[in-house]
Amino acid sequence: PTFDTMGLREDLLRGIYAYGFEKPSAIQQRAIKQIIKGRDVIAQSQSGTGKTATFCVSVLQCLDIQMLKSPSPPPQVLLALGDYMNVQCHSCIGGTNVGEDIRKLDYGQHVVAGTPGRVFDMIRRRSLRTRAIKMLVLDEADEMLNKGFKEQIYDVYRYLPPATQVCLISATLPHEILEMTNKFMTDPIRILV
Ligand code: AMP
Repeated sequence: PTFDTMGLREDLLRGIYAYGFEKPSAIQQRAIKQIIKGRDVIAQSQSGTGKTATFCVSVLQCLDIQMLKSPSPPPQVLLALGDYMNVQCHSCIGGTNVGEDIRKLDYGQHVVAGTPGRVFDMIRRRSLRTRAIKMLVLDEADEMLNKGFKEQIYDVYRYLPPATQVCLISATLPHEILEMTNKFMTDPIRILV
């Protein structure tokens, strides 16, 4: 299996190889094709399996090409994998400067990552506009629930367009997570890696 045969954009493939990835990991082989098809996906997997790159690649593949105009310095893996795509990303993290988030969001972002509380704060202030949101990725869902973010995750979800595609990654799938998948997802595919 190779990244070449997965139907990915040329500029994204270039970013993947430039970052140093040669072959897709097991979760990447199974999940990316489902996510880019538009399916809701529950991935039960631990850190170290390549789960982060799974949704980064999928998100980058699903971005609207028309909207990829302004050059920018986006963060971490997305930065590197999206290096050739002119994709604008920002992370909204609790405890950091609120004014900076507002400024970056007002400027316009293709991809927003963040902690549930700060993301909801930005939505409530109307700095993060949700009308054009196509995909919600809930990474480390079990960790977020353990840290008491359940209410904020539901708060965020309530503001998203009803057709939003949802991907959830979690090492474990306790009752509360399954409840969330039932509420947020449509006919999800479950992948265990
Ligand atoms: P994660 O499961 O997201 O915590 O990723 C674990 C590590 O695997 C990270 O350092 C990634 O950069 C790396 N990684 C992810 N996908 C690949 C791949 N296809 N080939 C080589 N390394 C990878």
